[in-house]
Amino acid sequence: MENHLAQYYRFPENHVRVALRGNLSEAKGFFRFGPDAICYGRCSGAVSNSAGAALFDAQDETMVEGGTVLLPFDLQEVVDNLRWERYMEDARAGALRNPVVASLYYFLRPLLPIDVRKHLQKAHLNGWRDLRFPRWPVDRTVDTLFEQILAQSVHKSEAREIPFIWFWPDGASSCAIMTHDVETASGRDLCSGLMDINDSFGMRASFQIVPESRYDVTAGFLSSIRDRGFEINIQDLNHDGRLFRSHGEFLQRAAKIDLYRQQYGAEGFRAAVLYRNQQWYDALKFSYDMSVPNVAHLDPQRGGCCTVMPYFIGEILELPVTTTQDYSLFHILNDYSINLWKQQTELIMEKHGLMSFIIHPDYISGVRERCVYEALLSYLTGLRDEKNVWIPTSSEVNRWWRQRRQMKLVRRGDSWRVEGEGKERARIAYASEHDGQLVYSLTSRQGENHMEEIKSRR
Ligand SMILES: [Zn+2]
Repeated sequence: MENHLAQYYRFPENHVRVALRGNLSEAKGFFRFGPDAICYGRCSGAVSNSAGAALFDAQDETMVEGGTVLLPFDLQEVVDNLRWERYMEDARAGALRNPVVASLYYFLRPLLPIDVRKHLQKAHLNGWRDLRFPRWPVDRTVDTLFEQILAQSVHKSEAREIPFIWFWPDGASSCAIMTHDVETASGRDLCSGLMDINDSFGMRASFQIVPESRYDVTAGFLSSIRDRGFEINIQDLNHDGRLFRSHGEFLQRAAKIDLYRQQYGAEGFRAAVLYRNQQWYDALKFSYDMSVPNVAHLDPQRGGCCTVMPYFIGEILELPVTTTQDYSLFHILNDYSINLWKQQTELIMEKHGLMSFIIHPDYISGVRERCVYEALLSYLTGLRDEKNVWIPTSSEVNRWWRQRRQMKLVRRGDSWRVEGEGKERARIAYASEHDGQLVYSLTSRQGENHMEEIKSRR
């Protein structure tokens, strides 16, 4: 099995060793790792049914022996439970809190005035602010867990710093992508104006197109997007909210979706309204998916993958949705500022993660909404210019993350080098520890040893 910690950082082989300490409980449940990370799985300490209870802190029972970090839980299992949202199935808190309201609402959604929609949502969203897990407005449990384990490993190791392949190309500090889901015919007709806005900020984006039932998709429409340097992905099949109703139905629809994937030449997928079942993804032949929210308190299907980094679901790369959607911001939170998005990007950038945005052409047709969107673009391009944030398209992220997965750090004389396709853009980073905090340093270029930048955790 793939070692998640080693894959996350791309260490040289065997540089960081993790093992299980003690006997695991039969039952799965919640426990914590330090003050910031709520974990879910089996543990040698007591586990709780509720994330809101006083939780056993597994960090207290973590040791380092002979260079190996000994954890009272199975790191692989716990990370999968979070990324694959397995804590939701177990908790039976699952998919739809109120299936009748949810399916009716999402079937009718494009036809309903916004006031009626808000009313229907209230039943579902009641109490969301009290949810402690995943953590609002961004959950970084997986990222924090990996950092803390690495910090312990470095603290006790003789090397005092551990080389790894930096997360993003050309030493970028973080990454941001813009994605547009086209919901209705009027949204489709607004795409060209939206591309004009994006172009004025030098921002490329992907458009997620619903292939059946919603609106006509002509070859001319697809090429009007592609010819301008934007990307096409498939959104669902017909957006009726039933893609994941049953496995049989899903497999039939996945086969149809695959024909559209080939016809459109699309690499990426997003399910309607972020419905999902990651256990079934092996039936999708896309290179990447963008349907898993980081924290889904405002989405009809609750849960969240608890990481701000891309991760693999089998052979599909998941680019999680790490910020609040425009619809939720405007119509659930009634917020017409970019304050929440700023707060989320800051939290993501602390972990050098992926900021991904869903903006619907359908929902920003009004002047007020469009101004908020332009403020967001202005903010993001500022981050690109001032904070060295990489702003590619979603398929460029996919390509980089796949290349990085194949790269290797190898010793040449007394220095490290990156080998593999794409290595020209890769940077070597070093993880060290000061006063219990993990610190990253980044080499300026392949093979050069002088440090360009110190990146600390807080
Ligand atoms: Zn949609």
